[in-house]
Amino acid sequence: MIKKSFLGFAKPEIKYDVLDDVSLELYDIPIPESVVLLSDGSPSQNPQLAINIGDRVKTGQKLIPYKDNDSYVISSVTGTISSISPYLGDYGKTYTAISIDVDANETFDETFKKSSETLTLETASNYFAFLPGNLPFHTFSNSEKPITKIIVFGGNTDLLITTNQYVIKSELDNITKGISILKTITGINDVVIAVPRELLQGAGHTGAKLKAVDLEYPSANPYFIMQNVFNQVIPAGKEIIDSGVCFLSAESVASVGKAAITGQIPVTKIITLVNKDGTKGLISARIGTTMKDIFNACNIDLNEKDRLIIGGPLTGSSIFSIDHPVHTDTDAIMIQDRETISLSEDTPCINCGECIRICPAKVPINILVRFLEAGKYEEGADEYDLYSCIECGLCSFVCVSKIPIFQLIRLAKYQLSMIIEQPDTVEAEDE
Ligand code: SF4
Ligand code: SF4
Repeated sequence: MIKKSFLGFAKPEIKYDVLDDVSLELYDIPIPESVVLLSDGSPSQNPQLAINIGDRVKTGQKLIPYKDNDSYVISSVTGTISSISPYLGDYGKTYTAISIDVDANETFDETFKKSSETLTLETASNYFAFLPGNLPFHTFSNSEKPITKIIVFGGNTDLLITTNQYVIKSELDNITKGISILKTITGINDVVIAVPRELLQGAGHTGAKLKAVDLEYPSANPYFIMQNVFNQVIPAGKEIIDSGVCFLSAESVASVGKAAITGQIPVTKIITLVNKDGTKGLISARIGTTMKDIFNACNIDLNEKDRLIIGGPLTGSSIFSIDHPVHTDTDAIMIQDRETISLSEDTPCINCGECIRICPAKVPINILVRFLEAGKYEEGADEYDLYSCIECGLCSFVCVSKIPIFQLIRLAKYQLSMIIEQPDTVEAEDE
């Protein structure tokens, strides 16, 4: 098995955007007539529903869809549940879509408020797993991988996105409160804020140490930050939490602070919206707002075959329905004009070596891609360094044969994770 560190990182030349003060305006998308909340798990795997069509819900109310499953969502609106159905996400991941028709008058659920004054790890885990910014709260209660350091990241890992930079510039009080709450309930005092170098000034006084991240892509990739900022190399095949470090987005930490200050769970997501002509702006929308409602509110006309991407240009995922809702981790929405889309082709690799030259992890991509295209994921992982990939997307960007290398890598990692989690199910599907 090839195992190598990331010490051979090449010097990339593409740069992240920096949010200037002029761009600090946030456009509020009106509350739509209905929202769609995505909960982990599908109805077919969880037969016993704990919620029903017709149930009334309040804004900020915790909804647990299934009797035998702890997953929950927080209602972002006041209204009535109108449907509960399966929803297929990236690479076949299944969710339950809970649609809620919105009332004219909004009522906030008071349950969280009662426990917000004396927050403990347990009460926080009952509410903070569905915060805007996607706080991975379960990592703090995993006794097998104890966390000793929290890194609050005030940037985004892909190009064009400035969502977390906005939060650093506009919500420092909430971040300060969020850091204080997290220190208290987790007992972790080693908290660092990592921000793009240009944002260092003004990001102090939060009770956390401050570190600068360079602007060259992919310096904001967490594996890069670990190596370049904290001098810690994460071995291939290991996750960052294996070394006791938890990365949190600035938005998720600000959401913790806001929840503690107001006694209400935040339900609005900040998103960078990149339009067809490349212009971009920051919007805020209730979690569960569909793309259709966002485009209507922003007067964006979609043509047939325009491409919708959730995330940035190098690592984002295409979506195929304007009914797709904003989720807790939706940092960016990109629309690509049908005329400018560079389609993937069924052209074989010509061994030009461009991908290898740009790959910061020095993965032998030209060989790996042949195994992945043939569905030989285990061979790709064991012999051709699949797990050294840090998912920067640069290989797909430069590939002259337009092979969707990055998507193949992600699919392979997802399929292998399914084999590890549910070996029997995957084997049965393969037969
Ligand atoms: S996405 Fe491609 S270029 Fe980036 S680390 Fe992975 S293999 Fe290398
Ligand atoms: S860039 Fe594309 S065509 Fe060139 S070696 Fe890599 S996979 Fe092959």
